[in-house]
Amino acid sequence: SYGEDSGDEDDLQARPPVVTVMGHVDHGKTRLLDTIRKTTVHEGEAGGITQHIGAYQVATALEGRERLITFIDTPGHEAFTAMRARGAQATDIAVIVVAADDGVMPQTVEAINHAQAAGVPVVVAINKIDKEGANPQKIRQQLTEYGLVAEEYGGDTMFVDISAKQGTNIDGLLEAILLTADAALDLRANPDMEAQGVAIEAHLDRGRGPVATVLVQRGTLRVGDSIVAGDAYGRVRRMVDEFNEDITEATPSRPVQVIGFTSVPGAGDTFLVVEEDRTARQIAERRAARNRAAQNAQKRK
Ligand code: GDP
Repeated sequence: SYGEDSGDEDDLQARPPVVTVMGHVDHGKTRLLDTIRKTTVHEGEAGGITQHIGAYQVATALEGRERLITFIDTPGHEAFTAMRARGAQATDIAVIVVAADDGVMPQTVEAINHAQAAGVPVVVAINKIDKEGANPQKIRQQLTEYGLVAEEYGGDTMFVDISAKQGTNIDGLLEAILLTADAALDLRANPDMEAQGVAIEAHLDRGRGPVATVLVQRGTLRVGDSIVAGDAYGRVRRMVDEFNEDITEATPSRPVQVIGFTSVPGAGDTFLVVEEDRTARQIAERRAARNRAAQNAQKRK
């Protein structure tokens, strides 16, 4: 069934954390995602990330070991809450960005509330420390009121002072994400099963037809798999990563663009791989019929 790793403890393997960046408008979420994308590239990927597919993975060293982090490439809590509303939780850790020259604002509080309601640990990135009037200590104080207490005040939330614009301390932020994941979460999945996960974004491409970026949460997704996402189904014909390179296999926490759906899945739809094309089609058609019935019932109200 969806949402569970098959097998037992021994089948579970460590997987990278999946991170969503949230915070008040203009506090630098988009800029931060850009900077991370540019400053830290995959081993052997000299060119850097070349296309926006809705999520990307970066590599960083922690205690001498290379580790991966997956970032959802849409800032803000809309995608986060849309997925939660559909029963999918894609995010393991929330990075809450607060501009050091502006402080805690309404959407900062909203973002904190969403993360806390979902039980997702928070890392606070105090951004724009390059600006005159930046006061990172004041932000630390303000946030204690919301249950985010920095380690230096006796709490267990990691705060990192950064400048997304100047690229300051991005490594420190990545390290804080990994340390938080290691301390608070047990991120493991079974790669040896049929893939399951969530569609992050999808659209109709003129040349390629329906294109969906999916995040694999457990199992391994392969070219040739029969897949169903919401009321869309198909056969994975091609998979492309954020480097615009073809890949044949995607393991847990890897985002990948899938070509081969016969229609466009919804963002936030969960997906699963099934044994046969026929099964995928049947599940999708049953869901489509149910959706139509629900819509008609809604109209009659
Ligand atoms: P978002 O609405 O949270 O996605 O904010 P943006 O990333 O669009 O940033 C809003 C503005 O703040 C843009 O003009 C950015 O260039 C600027 N900005 C972002 N980060 C920094 C920073 O670290 N320092 C300075 N000085 N400006 C920044």
